[in-house]
Amino acid sequence: MNCTLCGSPILDYDPEFNHLTLGGSHSADICPDCLDRIIKWQQKVYARLFPTNAAKRTHGVR
Ligand SMILES: [Zn+2]
Repeated sequence: MNCTLCGSPILDYDPEFNHLTLGGSHSADICPDCLDRIIKWQQKVYARLFPTNAAKRTHGVR
């Protein structure tokens, strides 16, 4: 199984963890590296959009 985003093979593929259903017939398989990047990216975006909420939740990451 290869990652839909970066194309790398997903080691220890786990549908519960790596398979994202997008509705209809669309789905994506995401490797742990890309998941990590997405989470960090979203945290950064949230921190910028909602500084107070993000700081409260993550206890002051940047
Ligand atoms: Zn990937």
